[in-house]
Amino acid sequence: MIPSILPTYNRAPLSFVKGEGSWLIEADGRRFLDLGAGIAVNALGHAHPKLVAALTEQAGKLWHTSNLYHIPAQQALADKLVEHSFADTVFFTNSGTESCELAVKMARKYWYEKNAPERVEIIAFHGSFHGRSSAGIAAAGSEKMTKGFGPLLPGFKHLDWGDLEGLKGAIDSRTAAVLLEPVQGEGGIRPMADHDLRALRQICDEAGILLIFDEVQCGMGRTGRLFAHEWAGVTPDIMMVAKGIGGGFPLGAVLATEAAAVAMTAGSHGSTYGGNPLACAVGCAVMDEVTAPGFLETVNTRASQLQQKLGGLVEAYPEVFAELRGSGLMLGLKCVAPNTDVLQACYEAGLITVPAGDNVIRLLPPLTLSEDEVTEAVSRLDHAARAIKDRL
Ligand SMILES: *Cc1c(COP(=O)(O)O)cnc(C)c1O
Repeated sequence: MIPSILPTYNRAPLSFVKGEGSWLIEADGRRFLDLGAGIAVNALGHAHPKLVAALTEQAGKLWHTSNLYHIPAQQALADKLVEHSFADTVFFTNSGTESCELAVKMARKYWYEKNAPERVEIIAFHGSFHGRSSAGIAAAGSEKMTKGFGPLLPGFKHLDWGDLEGLKGAIDSRTAAVLLEPVQGEGGIRPMADHDLRALRQICDEAGILLIFDEVQCGMGRTGRLFAHEWAGVTPDIMMVAKGIGGGFPLGAVLATEAAAVAMTAGSHGSTYGGNPLACAVGCAVMDEVTAPGFLETVNTRASQLQQKLGGLVEAYPEVFAELRGSGLMLGLKCVAPNTDVLQACYEAGLITVPAGDNVIRLLPPLTLSEDEVTEAVSRLDHAARAIKDRL
């Protein structure tokens, strides 16, 4: 008999009833150090007092009005995002998938209004993840996600990750945009090198096409800058965000330059819930924390502490770990042993990590992780690695 929840998820046999900072707690009181943060969502950890206060205060005032009216918290959050990014304008969604939908629509409508309606094609990369809608799975293009779901949204081309020579050859008179995650998340924590991001921007500029960054996972302070592309000193025309921006409350956004957004006039797109008062009250509180003086400096300090210790762990357990990769607090341990075994051993050691492609386990802790928690996390990982090694 089919379970009452559609069985689309492979769930771990864990169930949490409470969260405190970097910790998750089961009903029997067992505590887990959370290096997953709901897949890079709980950017400020669990039950952050400022987020709890922002949500409960708004919940007592007004939950929802629709976008037929002005929403003060939405305006405030848009202003903050514009102030702290390349963008001139923001549309709010409820998820990364919805942000992908709009990014694709915006790029195509841009060319339509420029009298080049044939420019519909978006060039993306293998190993990407852009969400589970028809546009999202077509954009990522992997057989695992697309097989059996009928005709895909047309107009996507795929290149190998980092294949910039191929990109030059792939751009033609039908190309609308290039779409990529500056650091691939689901694909196994694969950063694009800064010089490649700069080259990519230049290729797009020379071809006159749009560049879309998917910073749903790598954005919102995850790599130690507010947005990952800042490390390379380049900006996109359109950017998708979600995950960390809501700190655990469903919220996403598309940020764009005025030029790229020019075709998105009244009536061209919409959302019932997108940018609702509850989500935006929380989003404002997240933005205020992440952009507060010193916050990202601390993330970078913590990231180098964690990276240094993890480097030692990779050296100590070559039969378990092959490599440490990533940026800031978006880290991947490429495993020699099956990553599912390592994940399981981590659970047994009271540590939450997240699997990814390419036999990687991801470490995406709350950005508020303390120095003591870095030490504790690595000690638990050491425990897990030793257990794996002893079984070999
Ligand atoms: C998670 C993710 C998405 C999809 O976001 P949802 O909120 O699950 O719809 C899109 N792009 C990237 C890079 C992601 O990590």
